[in-house]
Amino acid sequence: MPSRYDILFQPIQIGPVTAPNRFYQVPHCNGFGWRMPKGLAAMRGMKAEGGWGVVCTEETEIHHTSDLSPFFEGRIWSDDDIPALQLMTEAVHKHGSLAGIELSYNGRDASNLYTRAAPFDLFSRGLVGGSGYEPGQSRTASKDDLKQIRKWHRAAAIRAKRAGFDIIYCYAAHNLTLAFHMLSKDNDRTDEYGGSLENRTRFLRELIEDTKEAVGDTCAVAVRFAVDELLGTDGMQHDGEARDIISSLAELPDLWDVNISAWKNDSITSRFGKEGHQEKYISFVKQLTTKPVVGVGRYTSPDSMVSAIERGIMDLIGAARPSIADPFLPNKIKAGKLEDIRECIGCNICVTGDTRFVPIRCTQNPSMGEEWRREWHPELIAPKKSEDEILIVGAGPAGLEAARALGQRGYHVILTDKNREAGGRVDLESKLPNLTEWRRVIDWRLTQIQKIENIFFYPSSPMTAKDILEAGAPHIILATGSTWRRDGMGRYHSRPISGNAKIFTPDDLMNGNLPTGKVLIYDDDHYYMGGVLAELLAENGCEVTLVTPAQTISAWTEHTLEQERIYKRLLALNVNLLPHHALASFSPIAATVTHTITSAESTLPSDAIVLVTDRIPNDALYHELKPALAEGKLKSLRLIGDAEAPNIIAQAIFSGHLAAREFDEVINPDVTPFKVER
Ligand code: ADP
Ligand code: SF4
Repeated sequence: MPSRYDILFQPIQIGPVTAPNRFYQVPHCNGFGWRMPKGLAAMRGMKAEGGWGVVCTEETEIHHTSDLSPFFEGRIWSDDDIPALQLMTEAVHKHGSLAGIELSYNGRDASNLYTRAAPFDLFSRGLVGGSGYEPGQSRTASKDDLKQIRKWHRAAAIRAKRAGFDIIYCYAAHNLTLAFHMLSKDNDRTDEYGGSLENRTRFLRELIEDTKEAVGDTCAVAVRFAVDELLGTDGMQHDGEARDIISSLAELPDLWDVNISAWKNDSITSRFGKEGHQEKYISFVKQLTTKPVVGVGRYTSPDSMVSAIERGIMDLIGAARPSIADPFLPNKIKAGKLEDIRECIGCNICVTGDTRFVPIRCTQNPSMGEEWRREWHPELIAPKKSEDEILIVGAGPAGLEAARALGQRGYHVILTDKNREAGGRVDLESKLPNLTEWRRVIDWRLTQIQKIENIFFYPSSPMTAKDILEAGAPHIILATGSTWRRDGMGRYHSRPISGNAKIFTPDDLMNGNLPTGKVLIYDDDHYYMGGVLAELLAENGCEVTLVTPAQTISAWTEHTLEQERIYKRLLALNVNLLPHHALASFSPIAATVTHTITSAESTLPSDAIVLVTDRIPNDALYHELKPALAEGKLKSLRLIGDAEAPNIIAQAIFSGHLAAREFDEVINPDVTPFKVER
């Protein structure tokens, strides 16, 4: 039957190759990189299986003088790298999709910590790769050096073709790569590579021409170009030089992959940007070229995708995060199962795989990163092994996911929650400023649960240990969450903070009990909660001081690319920011804080204190029920999610999913439960 989404499934010619549809997984980092090629190949292959017509690598180092350590990206330094890359192209081709590779020479964005080589760049300048402050500089690339780099790029393209890639990128985006730096207005080289726009575009033009000449007969040559850096006249502008650059190179590549720079802008979180947020920057590109254009914007709605194509914004729907949250998004649209799409929530936990140097994970998709080592499939799960019934107490993210996945296996599942609304912490947190999209965690799971006949959900049902035993289920899973501490104990303080004041916790605030007047928020959690509560209270008219023992505010949000925007928002709301300070004591009218390095004390007038420190696992039921397990009244008892160990939402979902996968299995705690790449 024809559908309004058919347009998404039209094949698209890209130079000498044809994409089977318009779903295009743009290059994205993943923390596997060259170090774990099997895990990487399985992850990419899963997207092809799920219907993504093009699946690309992450940025791939073409030469040892552009070594991106400590990050794990792709590597194609020599022929020795071909077999590992072939694992990916084979995994992608198996499902009829095209494989793309993003060749990258990063110049001063490469820290070369591993190779100890000096990277080439426009001129000798402080390195910005690695931590961003690695103590070293690049060396000036002479004209001969540029010739060398072109030779390396060409050799990498030929190797990429041999590895089986169908689309080869010339990369000039994300404020990374020498090709992008060359385009900059700051490029005042006096040779034919600097000064005029024609000169500044020369290197990118040469890379495209070289690549076409080397592999263009059978491979498509794509350009990834950032049309705006959101730096005003200090950077690339979509209504400025980006137009001239695209005009001058318009028909040269076979595909334009356009976005905004830097990565924090390209992958803006849902707290700061919505679906389609890049359209206003990239929409001009299609007017300047006849070549296919791919763009991104965290599209999860098929209607928005169709609209972006019909309005002439792009030809292919590019995606990193929507393909991570749901590798089967295209197939679900094709099958008309739109309600089954597991929509990305825009939290950027996936990004932390790269920024923390570990395999990629996803809040919505607990199988992400587990495709090879645990052989987890995002859509398939082993059928039940017994007729046993399972009672799950707590319908937060952990309980919802455990119930859903056990239900999918075919087990009879009873899920209860004391609250009228499902979702636990996510129900509360998604009501905080700008976190509405996080509700997708609950919505997707509830939709699935409603469709599975063997899951029975009882909201408004608080359970005691007695209730649980009387319910008669032989297997109990406790997903009862955690409670924010009220005593200030956490990473910094191992003993309660002393004093007498109006104390609030995030639980109080999220349940509508808000302080007034001068409020001190003490953040020893360091992720989003402290900052988001500061935003809430400042918007509510409080005079807020955000105190943290860390060196920076919301320190861990650096890894989700949000920290700068958090600072900007809090400063705009006149929140007083006090890093490097620990809360020492408090009274009804003031708080004493100490500098974490000098121990200098200061007193801050405050009417109320909000403690964002550790959480206490709600594991009382577990301890009450343990004797019943010992006495054989229960066959199994398992604690999952925040009740086991408080952590991020992604971990609660993972924990629930793991419990479902491991149910009825014999688990040997002495054995690593997954394959390890060595
Ligand atoms: P997690 O992140 O581990 O899923 P949450 O705190 O989000 O944890 O969810 C825990 C859920 O468990 C909450 O919705 C809470 O209402 C529910 N809950 C806690 N204790 C009980 C109980 N004794 N009976 C029923 N539901 C409970
Ligand atoms: Fe989306 Fe968050 Fe998953 Fe990344 S981790 S794909 S942002 S849901």
